[in-house]
Amino acid sequence: MRCEILSVGTELLIGDILNTNSQYLSRRLAELGIPVYFHTTVGDNPERLKKALEIAFSRSDMVIATGGLGPTQDDLTKEVSAEFFNKKLVLHEESLKRIKEFFEKRGLALTEGNIKQAYIVEGSRVIPNDWGTAPGIILEEGNKILILLPGPPKEMIPMFETYVVPYLLSFSSGIIHSRVLRVCGIGESFMEEKVKDLIKTQTNPTIAPYAKEGEAILRVTARADTKEEAEKMIERVVEEIRKRLGDYIYGEGETSLEEVVVDLLSKKSLTISIAESCTGGLISARLVNVPGVSKFFKGSLVAYDNEIKIRELNVPREIIEKYGAVSSQCAMKMAEGVAQKMGTDIGLSATGIAGPEGGTPEKPVGLVYIGLYIRGELSYKELRLSGDRNRIRLYTTINALDFLRRGLLNL
Ligand code: ATP
Ligand code: MG
Repeated sequence: MRCEILSVGTELLIGDILNTNSQYLSRRLAELGIPVYFHTTVGDNPERLKKALEIAFSRSDMVIATGGLGPTQDDLTKEVSAEFFNKKLVLHEESLKRIKEFFEKRGLALTEGNIKQAYIVEGSRVIPNDWGTAPGIILEEGNKILILLPGPPKEMIPMFETYVVPYLLSFSSGIIHSRVLRVCGIGESFMEEKVKDLIKTQTNPTIAPYAKEGEAILRVTARADTKEEAEKMIERVVEEIRKRLGDYIYGEGETSLEEVVVDLLSKKSLTISIAESCTGGLISARLVNVPGVSKFFKGSLVAYDNEIKIRELNVPREIIEKYGAVSSQCAMKMAEGVAQKMGTDIGLSATGIAGPEGGTPEKPVGLVYIGLYIRGELSYKELRLSGDRNRIRLYTTINALDFLRRGLLNL
């Protein structure tokens, strides 16, 4: 059973709306163990829609189409599907009754177009729409299956879950289960390098690496008869990956770097304050994402100007004159200064050149220092980042949180 998802709507083609239906359906079909080989998107045009159906059925056994079941002239998925299978449209009394009731309840007048929605392709079974007006249909013709669902996700999703999933279960072979490993402190390509052989040789489970907002992610997915079986298969692979990546893996599943950091602060009962130069508050903002962080995070100081670093954070003027504001010495003094000023166990700092201007051959754009002070101990990390100003600031933020995480792990 190969499935193809056909999204109908000119709005999708011109970029007015994002095709969340195809993502939703793909994810659910994967979980059901039904392979999806193609996604097609086509506008509200009868010739091109018919052509899209032809192509889809030439290479797939099942087509799930969304959109174009509405009451207006440009909603023609049903009409074109009937034509494609050489079938008539017939009135479905039960649906007409539902539609009439739907309008009566809301005190609205029924239009010609709404009556059109009660027509279904001859020989198909109806997917009732309890969330709107247009019913969906399932049409089995020879060994081909066509499923039509309305476009609005608020109708499409519950109809799919309530009526289509039970129908599809008879075609699914086992289930799909996956686990997500979250990685930071190394780039995506370096991470991939470390597990490349595993990615190449594994077919079940599969290992998929991808990057998301400066962090790297590994998704391990297994297909099996039961969830327990899939979990066991995944566990073996995850164990091997953990051996290779060690503490570059900061968490699993729906966690975030800041959550992991706050969890460590909580476990070790430590307070923190932050001094930020090039990040201008981004590191603090990430920590504040976590509810309940107020017990551990006391405050931060955006010390952008050198005079502020000197006056507010007690960075010795000589350090800035001798080494510059973007230096390991300055970063460590900033971390120490903020911890003392705010009376916290830990001080974290970031100072760097985010660009596009301000770089020199010795200190290029992208040079960043993270400083860390933990109960009298000072350390720093030098970063050489590439990309534009926003990217440099994002990666500085992630690296600062990761440097802190490692500092906490080593306590
Ligand atoms: P309606 O009765 O609302 O006209 P319909 O079945 O005819 O429903 P469309 O006209 O194609 O569906 O789309 C109606 C709305 O549904 C769109 O404006 C959009 O908000 C949403 N929609 C349609 N297709 C998708 C999709 N693939 N992903 C996300 N949203 C969609
Ligand atoms: Mg419509």
